[in-house]
Amino acid sequence: MSTLSKMPFHSEVAAFEYLESTLWPDGAICPHCGVVGNATKLRKGVSHDGSRAARMGLWKCNACRKQFTVKVGTVFEHGRIPLHKMLQAVYLLCCSKKGISSHQLHRVLGITYKAAWFLSHRIREAMRDGKLSPMGGTGSVIEIDETAQGRIEGAPKRAHRGMGSFGRTVLTLVERGGSARSFHVEGTTLGQLLPVIRANVNRESAVMTDAASWYKQLKAHTGVASHETVAHEKDEYVRYPADGLPLIHTNTVEGYYSIFKRGMTGVYQHCGEKHLHRYLAEFDFRYSNRVRLGIDDAMRAEKALKGIVGKRLTYRA
Ligand SMILES: [Zn+2]
Repeated sequence: MSTLSKMPFHSEVAAFEYLESTLWPDGAICPHCGVVGNATKLRKGVSHDGSRAARMGLWKCNACRKQFTVKVGTVFEHGRIPLHKMLQAVYLLCCSKKGISSHQLHRVLGITYKAAWFLSHRIREAMRDGKLSPMGGTGSVIEIDETAQGRIEGAPKRAHRGMGSFGRTVLTLVERGGSARSFHVEGTTLGQLLPVIRANVNRESAVMTDAASWYKQLKAHTGVASHETVAHEKDEYVRYPADGLPLIHTNTVEGYYSIFKRGMTGVYQHCGEKHLHRYLAEFDFRYSNRVRLGIDDAMRAEKALKGIVGKRLTYRA
């Protein structure tokens, strides 16, 4: 059986049951009073007083007597698309290595382009990692690099050579054998990069970068355990350290960028600057939950679904 032929992807009842079992493993959680496992499911077609048909997936809390569905308080709350189509979109976005465009979602799911666009941003928000604890630690290698992505709105189409002239700057930290975090930063001066690096890198980590000038004082300003560089401009891509120490290179973060660039160029051709951080969250999420770390498509989709809780979007559709 193909994955997308499973019941939650084409039955609205099954979709609600699947989301409920994913978000409420210990019983329905009332979003109004927080009580767990003390609510009654209202049968479809019959409301609690029999006066009107109950909405799909509607529950009534036995403690505070208020009604709710599993979508209340999540990024799916105000979406008007059927839940089973939202679940299809989550799955498609989670298993497509370079992402999936809103145009394609619109065609595949049979929803309007606008609805597909909003839905994909809801899912990106669900993928956003709210965790703030620094990456790495003793024995970990964090590779740091930056890249220009797209161009700033209103800038000339033909950008000057060099970083930060008209391109938007993305800074990415990748832990070897672990996760990735990317940030939209103002530019590449040490002062612009330091707050991000300080907040996200455990100081016991070994840091590796290329030989760009802005990284020169990185160790002095962050206090990380070590900072090694490779000189790409001298065709140096791997340096062999003393015995027992990890290889010095930035191939891991460059591998991340190769997927990111192919996705942003091939799939997401137009990305507004104010939305760039959401696309970064999407690529970070798939990278940090990749097959090599033992996470398959279904597990990745389930993890994204768990992320719909407790996030807020500032726009509705
Ligand atoms: Zn309640």
